[in-house]
Amino acid sequence: GREIHLKSRPKGEPTPEIFELVEAAVPEPTDGQVLVRNHFMSVDPYMRGRMNDTKSYVPPFKLGEVLDGGSVGQVVRSRSPDFKEGDYVVGGTGGWREYAVAPAKHYQKVDPSVGPLSAYLGVLGMPGMTAYVGLLDIGKPAAGETVFVSGAAGAVGGVVGELARIKGCRVVGSAGSDAKVKHLREQLKFNDAFNYKSGPVAESLAKAFPEGIDVFFDNVGGEHLEAALGLMKNHGRIVLCGAISQYNATAPTPGPRNLMLAVGKRLTLQGFIVSDHGDRRADFLRDMGGWLREGKVSDVSTIVDGLDKAPDAFIGMMRGDNTGKMLVRLVKD
Ligand code: NDP
Repeated sequence: GREIHLKSRPKGEPTPEIFELVEAAVPEPTDGQVLVRNHFMSVDPYMRGRMNDTKSYVPPFKLGEVLDGGSVGQVVRSRSPDFKEGDYVVGGTGGWREYAVAPAKHYQKVDPSVGPLSAYLGVLGMPGMTAYVGLLDIGKPAAGETVFVSGAAGAVGGVVGELARIKGCRVVGSAGSDAKVKHLREQLKFNDAFNYKSGPVAESLAKAFPEGIDVFFDNVGGEHLEAALGLMKNHGRIVLCGAISQYNATAPTPGPRNLMLAVGKRLTLQGFIVSDHGDRRADFLRDMGGWLREGKVSDVSTIVDGLDKAPDAFIGMMRGDNTGKMLVRLVKD
């Protein structure tokens, strides 16, 4: 099997030279482990943080070693009573390689009849669950409220918008191209959307929310956060999911200059990490599986073929090449 190593740490925007494709022997599982052939692997924004040698909620990737991340595939050998050969599984650590060996407890079985295998890395996987706990548990939108989501055409943002519609909210999203704006309005049924590259975010946002914002789900940070603070209604909630506009920054970026508005407006700003919310996984799979079947949420992805293209997929995702979840397909069937 082949795998991708981190050769050097990126400075600013990641480049292809920091990655290395390496031939490796297919590992043998030992007691309690499974060998999985990956069908799809995920490239995610949080991986950019792990490429830096800094302390965070997940440890940095090690130089000269295989990267890791989410993947979905089929068990080819099992030395655990939890899985049998042929089972489809999803896990958070076996990515960036064609074959992965890991303790069975790193994997969860998936039901390919609920959605395609790839959906378990998107709407039925970590990004979908991020949208679910972030919007519903932290943002707590009520019917009739207004919701703004930044990074709306991506894996998390698209699902946030659809969930806001399910909850009876008026939802507006921002994204980085006119084609993505059209996708949000037409496919995902956002009430409105705008291209944040076509003018100051504060101006587009003021037009989109003449009545103000109740819930802001922020994937982007920076200018988006400052603009939204200016338009939040009293007692509004800001869900701090990510700040991708700052992940390539080489020096600390200035905070929103108007943060003190949170005082007078009695705002709640709350960050969260999806992996802390495992107790919601069963609810998430039941609800999201149901909504997917009913067509109320969509399985949207951008797929790149071949492990050798995984670095490009990651670099492209960081630049906005994807609509929905960015995935790398390793097995064509
Ligand atoms: P996406 O599928 O949204 O892909 C990333 C997108 O970010 C790109 O498509 C691009 O879209 C956008 N982007 C890149 N640079 C900028 C910029 N400078 N300004 C605005 N947008 C930019 O990724 P995910 O859905 O996987 O992740 C979305 C966010 O959620 C990230 O911030 C991520 O870190 C966070 N996250 C947080 C989790 C948690 O537990 N808190 C868990 C999972 C994700 P465009 O064309 O619109 O610019």
